[in-house]
Amino acid sequence: MNGFSTRAIHAGQAPDPTTGSVIVPIHATSTFAQDGVGGTRGGYEYSRSGNPTRDALAECLAALEGGRHGFVFGSGMSATDTLLRVALKPGDHLLIPHDAYGGTFRLVDKVLSNWGIDYTPADLGNLDAVRAALRPSTRMIWSESPTNPLLGIADIAALAEVARDAHARLVVDNTFASPYLQTPLGLGADVVLHSTTKYCGGHSDVVGGALVTSDEELAEGLTFTQNSVGAVPGPFDSWLTLRGLKTLAVRMERHSDNAERVVAALVSHPKVSKVFYPGLPEHPGHEVAAKQMRRFGGMVSFLVRGDSDGAADPAAEALRVCAATRLFTLAESLGGVESLIEHPGRMTHASTEGSALQVPSDLVRLSVGIEDADDLVEDLLEALG
Ligand SMILES: *Cc1c(COP(=O)(O)O)cnc(C)c1O
Repeated sequence: MNGFSTRAIHAGQAPDPTTGSVIVPIHATSTFAQDGVGGTRGGYEYSRSGNPTRDALAECLAALEGGRHGFVFGSGMSATDTLLRVALKPGDHLLIPHDAYGGTFRLVDKVLSNWGIDYTPADLGNLDAVRAALRPSTRMIWSESPTNPLLGIADIAALAEVARDAHARLVVDNTFASPYLQTPLGLGADVVLHSTTKYCGGHSDVVGGALVTSDEELAEGLTFTQNSVGAVPGPFDSWLTLRGLKTLAVRMERHSDNAERVVAALVSHPKVSKVFYPGLPEHPGHEVAAKQMRRFGGMVSFLVRGDSDGAADPAAEALRVCAATRLFTLAESLGGVESLIEHPGRMTHASTEGSALQVPSDLVRLSVGIEDADDLVEDLLEALG
């Protein structure tokens, strides 16, 4: 099973041994009958500890990321929380991207800080800045590539080397790329995280998270802590995500095609002052992205210019554009088949206001879906005016 789509469709998903069901059943059960005390059939006792539908998803994701151990969670944030509990202890320090996902920042800044864990935001695209931010107590470099919402690129292989020298683990939040476009473990990362809510699920109908690692010590800790904390997804949610994964490769190809069309329309538009997309040759991370990603994905951000007569400032124009599209739905989240538009400063990244991670107020973020590209471009051009 070497090909990506073959793994997406078959890994962890052999026909059901009892019925022949081609699709993994939704094992909607909290508990499992035992044949005598301790006599489980296949190791299942209780669904917080293990459930066959969930295990199929975890195995499939591990196969897609090229890791030995997969873990799936009730959300991306619960995957993050469980990983941080296992990998860090009071007194430890971690680096986070200076434009980290707002929810990750909030968890580290507002929740973990109460448990004696300290952090520094750093520009992970700048290796000198990363080295300068390290402390003797740094045990983790948390990275995203591409980042949310500015589409910054981190050189994963180079960061892995910096982390190794510092005796710290490198985590890559691979949500924006998906395992089809990028596999960080192969570049030296220790753990990959996904909000499977996004491209992995791909249909905006389920919230979930995942971790994949080949680090045995970490895997043992994750198994224990996930069962202790209980941040597990239900069998139906696991099944939906597994169903989404089957088409990941074809969806990502189309997301990338459509994003390229949208970017081409935006870069030449008089109302757009800047476009953030790693596929653009002028993007500072373009060469690194081209080296570590298969294609550049479906996420695009841009800055809006104010009204030419000065009646509206850029931030007001950005808000107006977000409300003016008809096909792009104004909503948080990303990675679904339908196109979404949002204003990070007021929506997904509102929690970063006033911090080092604050995002520009004239920024608009697009999750370019897999509709017909002509319709998407027309909608954006009309909204821009
Ligand atoms: C959405 C998202 C998360 C959090 O995942 P949830 O499933 O919403 O809990 C983490 N990282 C990135 C990059 C995200 O986009």
